Amino acid sequence: MLDLAVIGARAVTPSGTKPADIGVRDGLIARVAAPGTLEDAARTIDARGTFLLPGALDPHTHLDAEMFGSRTADDFESGTVAAAAGGVTTIVDYAFQPEGGSLAEAVSRWDEKARGRAIIDYAFHVAILDPSAPAVAEIGRMVERGVTSFKIFMMRGFEERARDFLRAFAAAAEAGGLLTIHAEDQHLIGYCTERLLSSGRNGVAHFAASRPPLSEAAAVARALKMTELTGAVAYFVHLSSAAALHEIRRARAEGRKVLAETRPIYLYLSEEKFLEPGGERYVGYPPLRSRDDIEALWEAMADGTVDVVATDHCSWTSERKTADRFTRIPPGVSNLETLVPMLYSEGVAKGRITLERMVELVASNPARIFGLYPRKGAIIEGADADLVVFDPRAKVVIRAAEMHSRADYDPFEGSEVTGWPRVTISRGEIIVAERESRARPGRGKFLVRAPFSETRS
Ligand SMILES: [Zn+2]
Repeated sequence: MLDLAVIGARAVTPSGTKPADIGVRDGLIARVAAPGTLEDAARTIDARGTFLLPGALDPHTHLDAEMFGSRTADDFESGTVAAAAGGVTTIVDYAFQPEGGSLAEAVSRWDEKARGRAIIDYAFHVAILDPSAPAVAEIGRMVERGVTSFKIFMMRGFEERARDFLRAFAAAAEAGGLLTIHAEDQHLIGYCTERLLSSGRNGVAHFAASRPPLSEAAAVARALKMTELTGAVAYFVHLSSAAALHEIRRARAEGRKVLAETRPIYLYLSEEKFLEPGGERYVGYPPLRSRDDIEALWEAMADGTVDVVATDHCSWTSERKTADRFTRIPPGVSNLETLVPMLYSEGVAKGRITLERMVELVASNPARIFGLYPRKGAIIEGADADLVVFDPRAKVVIRAAEMHSRADYDPFEGSEVTGWPRVTISRGEIIVAERESRARPGRGKFLVRAPFSETRS
């Protein structure tokens, strides 16, 4: 007897997209069976006319985070409900090393934020803000505990501590830790920002010019040399420009191992948004780019240059996004609920990427890269039963009022989307159906991750 059966869908599996009935027992995928061949189940979902997808894994979120003197709108409850409603069943959130504190403290603080609140499974990266000798010495211990990736911000205080960061890079390489790198060059940004502000160009209309694509490409190139020197592997978060992609391709042509992520706002919105009233609401680091950059990112997703699409979900109210100068606007937008449906609608339905490529970008690739495959990221017997019944014909107009984030605006407000999750299942439990959460806060579990190794990705 199965606990749950999902029948009649076309399932996207590692061996292809095909009609298959899925049997769930004890929270795991027990059977991937030919249609009509499953044993009895306590409960059956009729999924005819849909695609069955592995739950998405978003490896870039900021829930219950403090930045610019404020706390993000979403905590681990509202954020993971939004995620689940959009077909995301696992997140990897960034735990920030506290000022003067250790990496272990970062993890225990984030554990407190998530425990009792998250409705989906979660893991943490640790953002190394102070690469002191004791912090560098902790890197190996973090990897042993299953916290196997680290964040490096290149744009704040990085240059002053570059040698210490090199020691952190080497320690991560030795321990099997992956470096997730925010690549923007602090001096190029500083120079551009100073020039704008000193001539009174304070408004958001000038934000994009303060952090040009060259500052991203320069930082990518530099980080690639630093990782080459230390033997570390770099995973570049939220790449936004053709210039940065050029550096990725060049490194790969030289035989280097390098990983690249992009983010939905760079796929759907261009820098002209900053000229509109309320343009502050679209501010993220790096900024929105040109239409040519948008085209370059779509090409890079299709040809394999980009490995992962992740949200960088960092939610604010529209009031908090206003400021008298662009440097004071907290960066980030709410995005977890729209990650999968927007990518399906704009990417798959419009023929720019295949359905299978979409599943790689939002599920199997991040699961492999971040040490969770095959438990997460694939419809495969023995994996966690994290499944999304995705209705490719559903029509939804995005309205912030109908979304689950506590942000009061959505960056894609008014967009007409074709395709939306009908049911989201986590470890065999129906946690969202018809856009309503049915899950108990706190049911999500912390995931211990495997070290990074080149063979897995
Ligand atoms: Zn981020």
